[in-house]
Amino acid sequence: MLTLIAVNDRQDPELETFTTMCPMNCHPTLCGMKVTKHDNDQIQVEGDETNPDSAGFLCMRGKAAHEIVGNDNRLLTPKMRHSRGSETWHDVTWDAAMDHIAAKMQDVGRERVGFWQAHGNWGNDYAFGLKRAQMDRFANLYGCQYWNPAMICWGLGGFGVGITGAIETSTKEDLGANSEFVILWGANTVSQANTLRHVEIAKRRGARIVVIDVRRTEASALADDVILVKPGTDAALALAMMNVILADGSHDTDFIAAHTIGLEALTAHVASMTPDWAAAITGVSAEQIVGLARQYAATKPAMIVIGGSSLHKGNNTWQAARAISCLPALTGNFGIEGGGIGPRHGGRSHGVGFNDVSAADGRLPGTYIPNQMEAIVEGLESGAIKVFVTIGSNVLSCFADTTRTRSALARADLVVAYDIFPNQTIREVADIVLPGTIWLEEIGAKSTNAHIHLSDRVLPPAGEARPVYDLYKGLAARLDVKDVYPWNDQEAAINAVLDHPATGHASVQMLRANGGRVPLKISHVAYPTLEFSTPTGKIEFFSERAKAMGLPPLPMPPNEPPVDGLALAHGRTFAQFHSFFDHGRALPTLAAREADPELWVAPSDALAREITDGDWIEVSNARGSFCARAKVTRRMPEGTVWMRDGWPDLNTLTDGSSVLPEAALSAFPFSVGQNNYGARVEIRPAVAKD
Ligand code: SF4
Repeated sequence: MLTLIAVNDRQDPELETFTTMCPMNCHPTLCGMKVTKHDNDQIQVEGDETNPDSAGFLCMRGKAAHEIVGNDNRLLTPKMRHSRGSETWHDVTWDAAMDHIAAKMQDVGRERVGFWQAHGNWGNDYAFGLKRAQMDRFANLYGCQYWNPAMICWGLGGFGVGITGAIETSTKEDLGANSEFVILWGANTVSQANTLRHVEIAKRRGARIVVIDVRRTEASALADDVILVKPGTDAALALAMMNVILADGSHDTDFIAAHTIGLEALTAHVASMTPDWAAAITGVSAEQIVGLARQYAATKPAMIVIGGSSLHKGNNTWQAARAISCLPALTGNFGIEGGGIGPRHGGRSHGVGFNDVSAADGRLPGTYIPNQMEAIVEGLESGAIKVFVTIGSNVLSCFADTTRTRSALARADLVVAYDIFPNQTIREVADIVLPGTIWLEEIGAKSTNAHIHLSDRVLPPAGEARPVYDLYKGLAARLDVKDVYPWNDQEAAINAVLDHPATGHASVQMLRANGGRVPLKISHVAYPTLEFSTPTGKIEFFSERAKAMGLPPLPMPPNEPPVDGLALAHGRTFAQFHSFFDHGRALPTLAAREADPELWVAPSDALAREITDGDWIEVSNARGSFCARAKVTRRMPEGTVWMRDGWPDLNTLTDGSSVLPEAALSAFPFSVGQNNYGARVEIRPAVAKD
């Protein structure tokens, strides 16, 4: 048993200290970490002040990372469930587990095997893409199903900005040094805590900070203005801002003439989308909308930081990113220092690039299920997928419409989970569990939007834990799939990905010799050449590409909101980011901070339902119900309730229907096939749980 020690308890100056990266993935910022090893069975972590991206910063999640090592909940041996529905497991060897999996794969046929991975697989590999590519490589060469996981996270937001042509982001450093006006739009910086440092730098310089969100978030503490919108209505706010800017004549005619298309159509489109029109939809007063639009148009450079995920969780809420990303073009804020679109989870700065080793060209012909969450569920339901392998992901908690996902997974012949801690998927539906190595037990690399950082191996694997590529190698050997792992070792694989002009053709050796990192050859300003990511090379207010996909060519307001119930919004907290580490609950410090699910509710909504702060409540709709404690708070506007995502069965409440048509799914290299996570709910006092 390893001993966990607190950060400041180290006494012995002779102990070995390594620089690495935090194993969580708050891309595009990410934080450097120093790990001190005590007799190979104890570690402590602290911020790495030499790290140019984080300068010694570690948030609460990063500081809890030492609790991963030696954690009693860790998965340490391969296990097989005794039988479906049983809670009895028995230990097996890796060989026996892989024999069983490979035999079942052969039995059902390659096209009925599906691989899915997520953040839990990337503790030492985010935005670098090697571990993602290694799974894809196996699946391409074997010829089975696999899906790109951006669809569960930032894919829809990426789609919205991508249709406009504004997919590149400017860096946090550019924001801090140059922005005069910063809008954090659905971007609660708990998911990007390291960005907040740069917002603070900008504020100290005198920049004005505006937060737009569905509640008073943690980031609101920094804001000069907080604007609360109803969930899913952000596009209406952005469209009304365009109405004001165009009506005032405060748009940048030179920039628009040279670098955009579709102004005439946009002007006609937004003519009726007045501040009064938007006020009725968004809940933001017309005066606030006019004030925001005028401040934004008048203050240059102005940067908008668009939320990565939660902003785009509802039906057609990708239109928020689509509409918001038109604003910098109207005001000539693209391509200038401190302007444009700021750091966005999944977004890259101009010039970032790595080699792709996924062997996409070698993909075997086959009938493949599209990159869409509902299509995956349908594939399980129909029997098109009979073996489902989930790697570092908690599908059951994370997909919308848990009830449907649960029964779909139950129809698979075999569910295999590779992970480092148990989670809801493992507890409820997995048949085989494979123990993975943690970030310190294998070599990896992580990329911010400014640097590539080495995350070297500093601990031996605990128990029977193995790196995930051992699974691909083992299955490839059993299934006679060639060329799945053509490298001598993982260091050679990293070198193959690193050997790219953006890194200066770096290698692991160079990274080690350079303190564990090299700067990327990037521009801190997105679109420095003003050649945008669209078929026309211009910002497209009017998009023929969207039209060809059967989507509206102009940014659109939300669909008519339903009138019944409360709008359920989701988000992140300082104690939880994505599903890895069992949504943080495997780490005692984070679990203690959020002992119970907590639903934020406005005092007036609580009073109307005879709910008081701290009560257990039932949150329900026609799809399901969920119990939580009420947090009655003035930080929540009337009509909206909010909850941290990732609680088991929270998604029994969410819709689960597809958002985009199949014609849109392959528009970008990342997947955009997210389900609708929207939900209207009612709340009432629950039978006491205490
Ligand atoms: S902000 Fe993210 S990367 Fe940085 S310490 Fe916190 S969890 Fe780790």
